[in-house]
Amino acid sequence: MGFSTKAIHAGNEPDPTTGAVTVPIYQTSTYQQEGLGKPRGGYEYARTQNPTRLAVERNIAALEGARFGYAFASGMAAIDATLRLIKAGEHVVVSDNTYGGTFRLFSRVLADYGIEFSYVDTTDPLNVEAALRPNTRMVFVETPTNPVMMITDLKAVSDLAHAAGARVVCDNTFMSPYLQRPIEFGVDIVVHSTTKYLNGHSDSVGGVAVLNDEKDAEKLAFIQNAVGAILSPFDSWLVLRGTKTLAVRMEQHDATGRAVAAFLEEHPKVRKLYYPGSLSHRQHELAKRQQKGFGGMVAFDVGSLENARTVLESVRLCTLAESLGGVETLISHPATMTHASVLPETRARLGITDGLVRISVGLEETEDIIADLDQALSKI
Ligand SMILES: *Cc1c(COP(=O)(O)O)cnc(C)c1O
Repeated sequence: MGFSTKAIHAGNEPDPTTGAVTVPIYQTSTYQQEGLGKPRGGYEYARTQNPTRLAVERNIAALEGARFGYAFASGMAAIDATLRLIKAGEHVVVSDNTYGGTFRLFSRVLADYGIEFSYVDTTDPLNVEAALRPNTRMVFVETPTNPVMMITDLKAVSDLAHAAGARVVCDNTFMSPYLQRPIEFGVDIVVHSTTKYLNGHSDSVGGVAVLNDEKDAEKLAFIQNAVGAILSPFDSWLVLRGTKTLAVRMEQHDATGRAVAAFLEEHPKVRKLYYPGSLSHRQHELAKRQQKGFGGMVAFDVGSLENARTVLESVRLCTLAESLGGVETLISHPATMTHASVLPETRARLGITDGLVRISVGLEETEDIIADLDQALSKI
């Protein structure tokens, strides 16, 4: 079955009671039991099971090529639940340029529970190999990274990690399963902030973890119920609606992303472009190999905070805001917004300068987005 067919049908069976074509929002906390110890159809309590959530879990698992899926209240909740597969005294290798919230969760919450973390530049698999220890049980990568779009070779890292007895987790939020399916390269667990492309309309916060390993899946299901950070029925329904159009949305994000990147690369006010689709990106070939496209995230450097401020305050169509992956074009300033808590020297090493601007290209007309950026850049 093709991607779009799965997106529309996986998990989306007509409702057994009424035949409703769209999975209803099962807004209930509990379910009537037929007799003592006889729940109807396996449903007892809605933290444990909810048909709307089950549908979106099956749907996203199918899109990533996984057997099992678990939906959570946010991307961070999905990542937290996944890290609970790790015990005190065990070690995790992490991309040093992960989403800021992931770094905060690992370094300021989970480190207090005896989990050891090593942050390395995973764009070179040799760094991952060098960081592996006898107690390493997980390698956690994000590719492409936010906002400078560095790529990690998923196959190379998976092979190294597996040889050392560690599972590999990939945060696939920036690509969505339409543009990249990490499991096909050997990754064990894929996590998403569904807040971004999967829901796609900037109107829900959620997360998901999908995987094939039965033992880890059983544990994740247990954690999901025991800890309880579940995705609500309404948000499950919104994400389920979002993924039906994922393929067409990602095609357009990708096409407009390429056009916007090409425009920026030629613009005299732009000092440097960060877009894996550009031939000037040093990992363009790797990106081409493991991604179906390059997506809608584009970052560019205009040389100074003053110039960045001019662009960010002159745009009229693009909205100045954090987040990404929605239908509207969002523009942001990583150094003072998403990466404000990252140490200045780390920011400098990663290329997150004061002049860096990030765009999440939306689904407006490509010409209108480019015209808006052009008039804003002309104010520099
Ligand atoms: C937004 C984001 C998260 C966190 O997701 P929330 O839904 O905001 O909790 C994690 N990883 C990446 C790459 C993100 O962009």
